[in-house]
Amino acid sequence: MFKKILIANRGEIACRVIRTARRLGIRTVAVYSDADAEALFVKQADEAWRLGPAPAAESYLKAELILDIARQSGAEAIHPGYGFLSENAGFAEACAAAGIAFIGPPASAIAAMGSKSAAKTLMEGAGVPLVPGYHGDNQDAEFLKQQADVIGYPVLIKASAGGGGKGMRIVARSEDFAAELAACRREAKASFGDDKVLVEKYLTRPRHIEIQLFADTHGNVVYLFERDCSVQRRHQKVLEEAPAPGMTDERRQAMGEAACAAARAVGYAGAGTVEFIVDTASNAFYFMEMNTRLQVEHPVTEYITGQDLVEWQLKVAAGDPLPLTQQQLTLSGHAIEARVYAEDPDNDFLPATGKLVHLSAPQESGTVRVDTGVAEGDTITPFYDPMIAKLIVWGKDRASALARLDAALADYQVAGLVTNLPFLRRLAGHPAFVSADLDTGLIARHATELLPPPAAPSAEQLALIALADTLAEQAEGDAAWTALPGWRLNARQRRRRDYRHGEANYTVEVEYAGDTFMLCVGDECFTASGNLNDTELSANLNGRRLNADLVRHGNQRTLFCQGERLMVEWLDPMAVEAGAAHGEAHLRAPMPGRVVAWLAEPGATVSKGTPLMILEAMKMEHTLAAPSDGKVAAFYYAPGEQVDDGADLVDFEAA
Ligand code: ADP
Repeated sequence: MFKKILIANRGEIACRVIRTARRLGIRTVAVYSDADAEALFVKQADEAWRLGPAPAAESYLKAELILDIARQSGAEAIHPGYGFLSENAGFAEACAAAGIAFIGPPASAIAAMGSKSAAKTLMEGAGVPLVPGYHGDNQDAEFLKQQADVIGYPVLIKASAGGGGKGMRIVARSEDFAAELAACRREAKASFGDDKVLVEKYLTRPRHIEIQLFADTHGNVVYLFERDCSVQRRHQKVLEEAPAPGMTDERRQAMGEAACAAARAVGYAGAGTVEFIVDTASNAFYFMEMNTRLQVEHPVTEYITGQDLVEWQLKVAAGDPLPLTQQQLTLSGHAIEARVYAEDPDNDFLPATGKLVHLSAPQESGTVRVDTGVAEGDTITPFYDPMIAKLIVWGKDRASALARLDAALADYQVAGLVTNLPFLRRLAGHPAFVSADLDTGLIARHATELLPPPAAPSAEQLALIALADTLAEQAEGDAAWTALPGWRLNARQRRRRDYRHGEANYTVEVEYAGDTFMLCVGDECFTASGNLNDTELSANLNGRRLNADLVRHGNQRTLFCQGERLMVEWLDPMAVEAGAAHGEAHLRAPMPGRVVAWLAEPGATVSKGTPLMILEAMKMEHTLAAPSDGKVAAFYYAPGEQVDDGADLVDFEAA
């Protein structure tokens, strides 16, 4: 086995690989970009080497530099994780040439599966079922249209070099084909530098079921059962589970054997996934593509098989035989994974950037697992995927896994930026998912229920926030509340607190008398008392005890109570009206400090108020926002650099 490996990746997958390496006594070398200099994986690795600036092209995709670091650090193997260089045949080859083991399949297998069209031709030869379609070399527009007419509409045009759900076009009618083909080619050329396409039957209510397989260098190939990844948004996975609901033993075996045939056809070794699309009408399954790497959703397979797939990968790369035979592999219980993202479901899932002011993940146990690459205080930047974590649960059956998932999602607290957690919870609890009525259109079909308009805060929630604010102010010794014996005896203190939620303002009247408060929201009043310990609020409202968490960050208030989350802004009566006149000054350092992160990419067009940069000064973090609509021409300082008082930070061109 290797003594030292390099991990050519970042975030949660780098942390994931480090965990297994550490358990096996293998030392780890991390590589990082400037944006990740303080990241969790950099701290967890035995050593970490800088690659370059934040953009992936200048850091995580620098194959030569990564190989150099591997040589210099004495790493014997490179784990590519997923994304970045993981499916780059040239990189796998360069590793082999440098005498460094690539923890993945041989370059030839990556290349064979790299083109969707070529892979289909290969699979056809291996007897693996394919979606009816044309995946040949003839790219003549008229010819492709004839093929589509024969297949029958709707058809799907796919970029042969595509991935990540990009470069796909559905064509409903023959007369639309030419225009859609042209559009797909343009998109494919722009995204993948290759405009080759294939045409296939578009299944209207399909399920996505994939087989996890493993092969070693001794000719053994096994499948570790299936994962159902049908719950997707715009062809991207949101929830994944194993086993697939409704799967029979015969069918599992048929799909598993087809996947193993695919692996054998390309001389595969290591972890791989064969993705199938299943027609819910006929129950037929068809080969879609093979991913020649470890997948994001591998933990659900680890839960149901009790195996560590990263350990299997390391063993195979070191030349060992597979740890178990097909007969020795067993499947137990049910696992579900939810992908937790910094994104705004109410705003078309726009990725969010900013600081994780408060982060409290559910308690990990034998049945709840949180794979993450960030900690409280870290920043989600625009340079990489805005994933916060993968939450994975296990139960003895699907119902108990679902119950656990719901509880864990309710326990997951994030403040400082918007996440998809409430959306995930509605999705996991939706009758269609609960009853396993699965197909790739589930989210789109139930969008109205899954994305309801934001609910107005309840009087109880507002009272809790006002109570916490008042307690915090008292603790800070705010003059207005300081007891002045003699003067204040019997006196009642009154104050109003205003909060904004969405477009609406809410007022809480706070009256203080002795140890208790009277809190009124409109004509709903609560006799209240409580204790605030950092973010923990234990409150008594009209005789009812409530435990909540309240994160106060600047004027932002995030309340977590009974599995519900509410974010409001406190309208500080003392705050100076932030007007356009302040805009310019905001892009200068208000005091000497250090740049923590960029929140926009250089060259980005932004709207007024878009966060641009985080600056740390006087032990406080300040977010600089765009003073108007405009363009971020350049940043004058990189993350980590010190700035002087009044220094110009951003070259901003107002629109
Ligand atoms: P990518 O490599 O971009 O992920 P895939 O070929 O794996 O593309 O397809 C991604 C998703 O697109 C699938 O999970 C499925 O939801 C949908 N899809 C792909 N092919 C078809 C098809 N023939 N009919 C209907 N949906 C499809």
